Amino acid sequence: MKILYNYPLSKYNTIHLGGNAKKIMFPENINDIQSILKSNKKNLIIIGNGSNIAFKDNNYNGCVIILKYFNRNKIIIENNSVIVGAGVTCSKLAKFLFKNKVNGFEFLHGIPGTIGGSMFMNAGAFKNEIWDKIDEFKMINKFGNIRLYKRNQIKISYRKTFAPVNSYFVEARFKLRLTNNFDKNLLSLYAHQRQTTQPVNQWSSGCIFKNPSSHMSASNLIEKAGLKSFKIGGIYISKKHSNYFINDGTGKCSELIALIDLVKRKIKKECGINLEKEIRIIG
Ligand SMILES: Cc1cc2nc3c(=O)[nH]c(=O)nc-3n(C[C@H](O)[C@H](O)[C@H](O)COP(=O)(O)OP(=O)(O)OC[C@H]3O[C@@H](n4cnc5c(N)ncnc54)[C@H](O)[C@@H]3O)c2cc1C
Repeated sequence: MKILYNYPLSKYNTIHLGGNAKKIMFPENINDIQSILKSNKKNLIIIGNGSNIAFKDNNYNGCVIILKYFNRNKIIIENNSVIVGAGVTCSKLAKFLFKNKVNGFEFLHGIPGTIGGSMFMNAGAFKNEIWDKIDEFKMINKFGNIRLYKRNQIKISYRKTFAPVNSYFVEARFKLRLTNNFDKNLLSLYAHQRQTTQPVNQWSSGCIFKNPSSHMSASNLIEKAGLKSFKIGGIYISKKHSNYFINDGTGKCSELIALIDLVKRKIKKECGINLEKEIRIIG
């Protein structure tokens, strides 16, 4: 298992922010993660691909566990369902099922996270959410014990999972809807929509705020408040999609937090709406 010491966390989140961590560990299987949980009890942070988080600028005096290599190739089709390891990327699963002529998972293509992180965030796009597809899942707790849960044993809401504390997703079983009318255009259609509406190749963490409701988007509110392209230090609001904040390569997490606060205050003052953060700032 790869372990790094006193290493920049900015390398492990897609907006590239954060100080150094004392220790970063990359478990690849259940044995690795069980031995980590046994010997590192305090100051643990567990992430996937870091595509919905930013680390604070200060150094982190604990252990960061990155699950992007955890069972990252485990995709097993079995009886109208597919079993997937937490470290598999959303795009990999979407492409795999698409190649096997299974529709319904194209929305995951282009979400740059792991299955585990996407379960925690209840990631979604194009009117689909990951938890709509899950039948059962496994979690590991802080003692290293693994438990199988049914879908109805967990409460889910928009971009939020009420998961048991100090437990982490290690696997999911997704139900497959097999059909004779396979739509071969959906994957490229969604990819094209992402490319044209989102700054996909820049340093961001996806949407900063949750949408206040299904018919009111945070990006629209930010745009109407005249904040498009507004910049604090090295962090600015994308011109292409106002709910994406971009690091120009010199940004700091303190500047991201300042920009988030400014946007929240302006939207509250002008529209009376409390924007809720989707991004998680940790460290
Ligand atoms: C360009 C871009 C486009 C995006 N598009 C979308 C989109 O269309 N829809 C959408 O919903 N999101 C989108 N996102 C946000 C992000 O990709 C998703 O939220 C993704 O699901 C996060 O997965 P991750 O592995 O990167 O999680 P991380 O960012 O690493 O972690 C997110 C949270 O989950 C926790 N976590 C991670 N893994 C586990 C685990 N195995 N068990 C328990 N907790 C865990 C972490 O502690 C953290 O609190 C986008 C981001 C970018 C940069």
